[in-house]
Amino acid sequence: MLVVDDQEINRDVLGVILEDDYEVIYAENGREALSQIETHLEDLSLVMLDLIMPVMNGFEVLETMKSDERMREIPVIVLTAEKSAELKALQMGASDFITKPFDQHEVIVARVTRIIELNEGKHLISAAEHDKLTELYSRNFFFEYANRLYTYHPELHLDAVSLNIEQFHSINAINGREFGNEVLRIIGGEIRAFLAETEGIAGRFDGDRFAIYCVGQPDYGALHDRFQRKVDGISPNVSIRLRMGVKPYAEGMDPVTLFDCARTACNMVRGDYQHPVKIYNDEMRTRELLDRRLVNDLHTAVENRQLKVYFQPKYDIQCDPPRLSSAEALIRWVHPELGMISPGSFIPLLEGNGLISVVDNYVWEEAARQIAEWKKKYGMTLPVSVNLSRADVFGLGLVEKLKKLITDQGLEYRDLKLEVTESAYTDNAKLLMDVITALRELGFQIEMDDFGSGYSSLNMLSSMPIDVLKIDMKFIRNLEKSETDRRLVDLIIDIAKYLRVTVVAEGVETKEQLEFLKNEGCDLVQGYYFSRPVPPEEFEKLIVRELQTERR
Ligand code: C2E
Ligand code: CA
Ligand code: CA
Repeated sequence: MLVVDDQEINRDVLGVILEDDYEVIYAENGREALSQIETHLEDLSLVMLDLIMPVMNGFEVLETMKSDERMREIPVIVLTAEKSAELKALQMGASDFITKPFDQHEVIVARVTRIIELNEGKHLISAAEHDKLTELYSRNFFFEYANRLYTYHPELHLDAVSLNIEQFHSINAINGREFGNEVLRIIGGEIRAFLAETEGIAGRFDGDRFAIYCVGQPDYGALHDRFQRKVDGISPNVSIRLRMGVKPYAEGMDPVTLFDCARTACNMVRGDYQHPVKIYNDEMRTRELLDRRLVNDLHTAVENRQLKVYFQPKYDIQCDPPRLSSAEALIRWVHPELGMISPGSFIPLLEGNGLISVVDNYVWEEAARQIAEWKKKYGMTLPVSVNLSRADVFGLGLVEKLKKLITDQGLEYRDLKLEVTESAYTDNAKLLMDVITALRELGFQIEMDDFGSGYSSLNMLSSMPIDVLKIDMKFIRNLEKSETDRRLVDLIIDIAKYLRVTVVAEGVETKEQLEFLKNEGCDLVQGYYFSRPVPPEEFEKLIVRELQTERR
């Protein structure tokens, strides 16, 4: 399906709503849309078309489509904010319309499905039974056969397994479509090999979603590993992760419902690399509904400024008294109905679907603006660190975007520090290094976040382009109790000294922890001991206090 809208946020929102069920491509204006339609004449099921756009508007697209024999049959849903435009669009041949701001996403999905089904009814006879790429069943046939198995062979007790590729869209974007197809082919091949050994059928739909309807397996972890191993063998430079959701056979539950649950379970894996297989339970449904709501509400949250940037200070503890040295910007979502939502419950969700960049860009802008404001007001520069997520680093145009922020606000590159979590370094090491190196060459400082939680080897660490090492909080939490953690922290600090990088401890809550870190030579400390993350007005009090201390 093709989504045409000049506003990025609209494309993103529709993408998130529809990407579960359809393969979605995008265009920013009418001209781009027509060229996308040209290239996808064979497999385009639907066009969702904004009417008012620069370069070429939606009416012109409709006109061209309806006068071109090859495009005439492709249904169009128009996206519009005005009643008057709806009627005109329908007269020009649009099949339906969706009003902006967008309705409940269930409504959108239902309208889209209905239009596609209506239109495909005409073509059903010619529809392919098999997906050409993987030789697995296409959606309609998969469910057709699954229903037959369910009805005529109830004794088989088949389980529903949903298999999915983490962030397939980025894999495609970074490595190209042909590479993405190769990944799909290889997974398809291994699923067929698996089915040759056991009873069951499989299909692929919506791009990277595989459905396997098979007799109960004793160990789904092992099955996942089997597919994962195949994928690991594709390229040493690209890390591809599979996630799996399982809904075991339940009496009286038809395949569609069963696969719905399996898919929900699969969605719950999201970024939890340690547990890539989840078995469905009812809480997942509740969680999924909440997740959908958050994704749905994000658009409004950005518009209505419900997202707030908080700041948490970092203190230099080798000074006496400790000196305020910098801060970390942390996002908060003040939801009008759900109250304050902590990033832990929406960041991983948004990381899974790429929307995180919307939030991150907002935080970076706010942070940069704030640094400039404080610089002007207090005559001192307080560097602020912002968090970068994988999607930012592996997405396009990061360097330019950050560069522009700095110039627009008249800052120095070292004023805005960038935190990248350790585990990102192991994902696509080569690409990450290139991006980070480019950022450092400009003058940005890079902090490796959550150090100790990932798997960087010492060997890798020495060649990594970083300026700061942030010790993972879990080591600090148990300092008093655990001799091992004390030794590890000691070791990490030594490594940092050896590498000549600054070392930061976060999550420091007690005087004892502080004393220990100070004695071991840790440079900076962040944590409730000094302050929780606070809104900017509050943070200013810390700046004022700092300035008074210095005068003494
Ligand atoms: P993080 O980057 O490791 O951030 C540190 C987290 O530890 C923050 O949680 C902070 O409030 C918390 N913390 C600080 N001091 C203490 C302490 O003494 N004790 C305890 N128990 N906790 C402490 P928060 O704000 O809930 O953020 C959680 C995570 O969400 C962050 O972990 C980061 O990974 C992510 N995050 C937050 N804001 C953003 C953002 O703007 N963009 C992205 N991509 N991720 C963000
Ligand atoms: Ca951080
Ligand atoms: Ca951290």
